[in-house]
Amino acid sequence: AAKRAGGHRLQVFSDEMRVAVKERIAAEARLRAALAGDREAALPVWFQPIVNTATGRIVGAEALVRMFTPEGNLLGPGHFIPAAEETGLIVALGEHVLRLAVRHLMAWKNQLPYISVNVSPRQLAEPDFVPMVAAVLAENPGLDPSRVVLEITETALLGSSVDVRERLESIKALGVRVALDDFGTGYSSLTWLQSVPADVVKLDRSFVAGLAADPRKSSIISAVLWLARSLNMTVVAEGVEDPEDWKALQAADCPSCQGYLFGRPLPASEFELMLPFPETARPRQLAS
Ligand code: C2E
Ligand code: MG
Ligand code: MG
Ligand code: MG
Repeated sequence: AAKRAGGHRLQVFSDEMRVAVKERIAAEARLRAALAGDREAALPVWFQPIVNTATGRIVGAEALVRMFTPEGNLLGPGHFIPAAEETGLIVALGEHVLRLAVRHLMAWKNQLPYISVNVSPRQLAEPDFVPMVAAVLAENPGLDPSRVVLEITETALLGSSVDVRERLESIKALGVRVALDDFGTGYSSLTWLQSVPADVVKLDRSFVAGLAADPRKSSIISAVLWLARSLNMTVVAEGVEDPEDWKALQAADCPSCQGYLFGRPLPASEFELMLPFPETARPRQLAS
C-alpha cells in the first residue's frame, strides 16, 4: 500500500508537470496566433491615468497590454508576458504595444501630455531595439519624442551581456524619456539609480499602499523624493488606492501618482472619456 501511495504521489507530480508544459505550449501557440492575426483586436493596449498629485489632473498614461483569447476571455499580462519573454515573441509584442500606444498618443495629442510604455529586458537586449523605436517615432511626424516614456525594470541589468547603460544612452539620444519601473523592489536600487541615465522613478506600490499609516514607508518615500530631486528625476508613486495615501503624497510633494484611486487601466475608447476636451472643441465660456 505504501508503495502504491508513493507511486501515486509520483504520478500526481508528473501530471502537474505535464499540465505546466502543456499550458506553456498552449500559451505560446495562442500568442503566435494573436500576433499573426488582427493584433489590435487580440492584443489591445489599455490605458491607466497618471495624475499630477497636487491637482489630480491627468498628465500621462501607462500603456498596459491585454489579450483576448479566441474564446473571448480577457487575460492580463501575467498570463502571457512570461511565455513571450521565454520564446522571444516579446520582441514582436513589444513593438506592437509601442506602435499602438504612440498612435493613441497622437490621436490624443491635445489632451494627453505623455504615454509610458513597458519594455522588457529581452527587448532591451535586442540589437534592433533602438532602430525599432526610431522607426516608430518616424512614423509619427510632429511627435515630440519626450512625450514617450519607456519603462524598464531593474532586472534588465541582470544577466544581460549588452551594456544597458550604453543602450539607454542611445535611446535617450532619440529624445524619448526613460523610467525606472517598480523602483525599490530590486536588490541594488541605488546602483541602478547611479548607473542608469533615467528621467523618471516609478516608486513601487509596496512603498505606497498604506503609506499614510506607516511612518517607515513615509520616511522611505521622503528619502526617495529627495534623492530623485537631487538627481533631476521626477517621481510617479504607483498603486495609490487610498485617499489618505494620496493626501500623504501631496504633503510629501510627490510630483505624480498612478493607481486605482484615479482610474484603473481602461480600453482606449473608455480611457479617452476621462481626458479633458481638446482646446479647439472646448465650448466657449458663457458670459456671466
Ligand atoms: P507595471 O508596469 O508595474 O504596471 C502596473 C501594474 O499595476 C498594472 O498591472 C496595473 O493595472 C497595476 N495597478 C495600477 N494601479 C494599481 C493599484 O492602485 N492597485 C493595484 N493593486 N494594482 C495597480 P497589469 O496591467 O496587470 O500589468 C502587470 C505588469 O505586466 C506590469 O507591471 C508590467 O510589468 C507588465 N506589462 C504590462 N504591459 C506590458 C507590455 O506591453 N510589455 C511588457 N514588457 N510588460 C508589460
Ligand atoms: Mg510599468
Ligand atoms: Mg510599475
Ligand atoms: Mg509595479
